[in-house]
Amino acid sequence: MSNLFTQDFRTTPYWWDHVPRPALPDTPLPARVDVVVIGSGYTGLSAALQTARGGRDTLVLDAEEAGFGCSTRNGGQISTSVKPGFDTLARRYGSERASAILQEGHNSLAWVCDFVAAERIGCDFRACGRFHAAHNPTQYEALARQAQAPSAGPKVEAHVVTRAEQRNELGTDAYFGGVVYSRHVSVDPGRFHQGMLERVREAGATVVPRCPVSEVQRDGKAFRVETPKGTVSATNVVVATNGYTGRPTPWLQRRVIPIGSYIIATEPLPPVVMARLMPKDRIVSDTRKVVYYYRASPDGRRILFGGRVSANETDPRKSGPLLHSELVRLFPELAGARISHSWLGFIAYTFDELAHVGQRDGLFYAMGYCGSGVGMAGYLGMRIGQQVLGRREGATAFDGLTFPTRPFYRGNPWFLAPAITYYRWRDRVG
Ligand SMILES: Cc1cc2nc3c(=O)[nH]c(=O)nc-3n(C[C@H](O)[C@H](O)[C@H](O)COP(=O)(O)OP(=O)(O)OC[C@H]3O[C@@H](n4cnc5c(N)ncnc54)[C@H](O)[C@@H]3O)c2cc1C
Repeated sequence: MSNLFTQDFRTTPYWWDHVPRPALPDTPLPARVDVVVIGSGYTGLSAALQTARGGRDTLVLDAEEAGFGCSTRNGGQISTSVKPGFDTLARRYGSERASAILQEGHNSLAWVCDFVAAERIGCDFRACGRFHAAHNPTQYEALARQAQAPSAGPKVEAHVVTRAEQRNELGTDAYFGGVVYSRHVSVDPGRFHQGMLERVREAGATVVPRCPVSEVQRDGKAFRVETPKGTVSATNVVVATNGYTGRPTPWLQRRVIPIGSYIIATEPLPPVVMARLMPKDRIVSDTRKVVYYYRASPDGRRILFGGRVSANETDPRKSGPLLHSELVRLFPELAGARISHSWLGFIAYTFDELAHVGQRDGLFYAMGYCGSGVGMAGYLGMRIGQQVLGRREGATAFDGLTFPTRPFYRGNPWFLAPAITYYRWRDRVG
């Protein structure tokens, strides 16, 4: 093994060291339930929490262990999530709808803060703020302009950090300054998921792992949900499969683009190094289109460094060294720091860079968080659960938006490799 890796190197998420995938009982499937939720990440669990607490007999099925997808693999960085800015959204939908969509991003951030407190979920929640770094002078100018004279829409709390001040935020000169979004927060995503899972089970829902749904068929007013463990009849079905959406829901599969996102954890670093590199212990991201995002581990001893290093790499032993070289480009003193964990997961991009939530042929769905779903997935999961219950508060600003696809796209993103190469080139040339 390369000497970049520690002796106890793992290809599973760092978070799983202290929150292993839960050993849930291998429950036989009931013949019928009120609600089947497909997928046990934040979206599925949050929807299930609503329906179970709303008195509906709820069954959550996952193809793998509970929380196997992105929800226990992510960086635990929580922002306001919506990617397109006000001007782009206003051109598409008008200024009122644009504001409402951006407001949903703020709602999702507020939802996480309230949910963690109200449900008493121990997940190393920290109101740490984000340093968003400019990778070239043009991007710095744009960030500074936006922070000082924001466009219309909900107010974003941000202050500018010049290049001269940058070392107060981050121990590198590789960036050209940036902004701090003081309201952004971090969690331990594994513990966040575990807390949600506990609340869902306490609410009376059943979560069955290792039970892939192979087909969903209409059966009069209900649905027949086929799995290798048997068939379940359900009045309602919620599809919460995001970047793992597959053949059982072909209409949705044609609308989400699965993209690998990769992370490494370093071995524990000396406290003096951590204090120099991350003096304010913020979460960090940069302005590149092919973005890098990183943070300290909750115990403050390691750096967890993520990004999109490849279009189709699935071997964390190969993606790990690529991320490491980028980490060292930013922090040369980490050249000798070894990698203890390297892992990946599949996020769901969409053709309009927006999340989508609603109903299609009677199936409820929420997905397409474009790599920023820690807050938004739980928030929209809650909303879709409320929609299943027929509650008015389930309405969102995303409702009714066209969920676009492209001709001939069937869920296999052949265009990804050229797109990433193009965006890398754009990031380099500015
Ligand atoms: C490496 C990485 C880093 C990330 N970092 C961040 C971050 O810092 N901040 C942020 O906001 N977002 C981040 N994200 C994105 C975020 O994690 C996701 O947007 C969010 O977790 C999506 O949750 P979900 O419940 O919709 O999907 P997932 O958690 O992916 O769950 C989908 C589940 O569906 C199951 N499934 C699929 N098909 C079937 C089937 N046929 N039958 C049964 N089950 C099925 C899968 O097994 C899976 O468990 C990151 C993602 C990755 C991969």
